[in-house]
Amino acid sequence: MPATTPITLSTFLSERDISRFWFRVTLPDAEGHLLWTGHRNEHGYGQIRIWHRAWYTHRVSFVIANGEIPDGLVIDHTCRTPACVAPLHLELVTQAENMRRARRTHCKRGHALEGSNVYIRPDNGTRQCRACAALRRQGGKAA
Ligand SMILES: [Zn+2]
Ligand SMILES: [Zn+2]
Repeated sequence: MPATTPITLSTFLSERDISRFWFRVTLPDAEGHLLWTGHRNEHGYGQIRIWHRAWYTHRVSFVIANGEIPDGLVIDHTCRTPACVAPLHLELVTQAENMRRARRTHCKRGHALEGSNVYIRPDNGTRQCRACAALRRQGGKAA
């Protein structure tokens, strides 16, 4: 095998690895997040050790659901929740697109994500919009 062959997760992921993975994930919450309950890094991303290497759990989830991640593409959490591994909340994007999205300055409803309108969720470390949180409290399921 040439030395340049990349180590790809899908080639050695076993049934046992897969069941071990889902065993450490919560049931879907109201927003459909499946949260990783095992080790998380300083940015809130879940990590799992498979075959002596640490892998990001959202990448593992994507590979289980969709197969290998093509070269040059990365996984974006469309739900902005680093610990979430829900396949429906993960999207394959280019590195450039991912960087562009990470710099977003407004929430999905158009509120500015700056100053006192931003708070950090303690459970997963994501930046959240206070105005939207207030709307959710007022409107319940409608928001
Ligand atoms: Zn999610
Ligand atoms: Zn908002």
